[in-house]
Amino acid sequence: MPPPRCHLQTGYWPQSETTFKPDEPTAVEGLISLDPGECFKKIFVLIMEAITELILQNNTKLNIAITGVSGAGKSTFVNAIRGINDGDEGAAPTGCNENSKDAIAYFHPNYPNVILWDLPGIGTTKFPADNYLNHVGLHKYDFFIIISATRFRENDIRLAQEIKKMKKKFYFVRSKIDSDLYNEEKSRKSNFNKEKTLTDIKENCIKGLQDAGFESPQVFLVSSFKLHEYDFPLLQETFETELPEHKRNALLMTTPITSLEIIAKKKKAFKSKIKYYAAASAAGAAVPVPGLSIAVDVSILIAAITQYVHGFGLDVPTMKRVAERTGVSYDDLLAVIVSPLAAAEVTSALVLRVMASLAGTAALMAAKEGSRFIPFIGIPIAMGLSYITTSRVPSHILNVLAEDSERVFRKAFGSV
Ligand code: GDP
Repeated sequence: MPPPRCHLQTGYWPQSETTFKPDEPTAVEGLISLDPGECFKKIFVLIMEAITELILQNNTKLNIAITGVSGAGKSTFVNAIRGINDGDEGAAPTGCNENSKDAIAYFHPNYPNVILWDLPGIGTTKFPADNYLNHVGLHKYDFFIIISATRFRENDIRLAQEIKKMKKKFYFVRSKIDSDLYNEEKSRKSNFNKEKTLTDIKENCIKGLQDAGFESPQVFLVSSFKLHEYDFPLLQETFETELPEHKRNALLMTTPITSLEIIAKKKKAFKSKIKYYAAASAAGAAVPVPGLSIAVDVSILIAAITQYVHGFGLDVPTMKRVAERTGVSYDDLLAVIVSPLAAAEVTSALVLRVMASLAGTAALMAAKEGSRFIPFIGIPIAMGLSYITTSRVPSHILNVLAEDSERVFRKAFGSV
């Protein structure tokens, strides 16, 4: 007699009566046609991968140094890329003449492993450039952002040369672009040409760096008040292509929502992790203790959904900050949200309620709970069921939250 199948793939997912839409098949479906022994082995391998992934993720620290002369806009930039407004709790103080002579660490509010270091201004009377390089300890940073509100000066260039010697990456950011455009428009009136002004500023900076010996320097024009405009999205892409993969993911998660592409990238990154959650859930299903598997599933889902909500900027503090920054009211942003999981505390009661609203999920969980007590084949079947539930549910929630994030972005920044 052929061995029994982990056969649960058809007809259990809702087609209607819910805001959650069926998702495309995932890699999980490959497990369905396997016999229980094979299914068990595959899931075991995935559990091991999941553990490795979790260890890696928890240990991934990213140290980003922001440097430049005092007044260049470093602190404002540090706040902007953490999605924090000037004056918020934990914000880097801006507009101060008196700068610290030490590097100051600013943690991302939702991802404390990503640290932005506001380095002291180079070449101030308080802190001469000669001692600067040793003092800030260049080796500890993953990469450097060198900010200037004008052409890059001698100290910026010296610093870049030192960083280059250490074979570390650095990026030149020309700040306060909004202010340049405003001033240019005021002075040129009808002769004002935005694109030409931007090109001139960039070329001027590039020429200065070429004169200083940099072969093909890249300069990013940025306004910390309008991160979604000018070159910030390009800067984000450049970080992404140049960082090692595990660091790239850490950075992507902390990246503020400045474009629809960022939402799509985050969604893809989150999706790639679902198999690990599913494997951890399958491990929980292997333990024949009543109720334990569901408790494991719910805690895994809470962790996953919390990451999605934070990553997509759908937590209450982030949405309030976006409202403040853009002038679109918090209530108006809230009004475009569909998922009950956004802008809410993700509790086990809420997750269970959402799961119950997904037709078929409750039956699947009940089948899993029952099957674990069938001798011999029960545990592999329960593990397969767990794997499928904990991949389908977050996958659907992920889709809905990504769509919510798109709607909030469009509402906040107009139809970009
Ligand atoms: P830091 O000394 O390099 O940390 O510079 P700050 O971040 O404190 O900024 C100095 C001043 O420039 C503050 O008044 C900021 O509000 C202003 N500033 C910083 N970034 C921008 C920007 O992108 N656009 C405009 N218009 N002003 C900016």
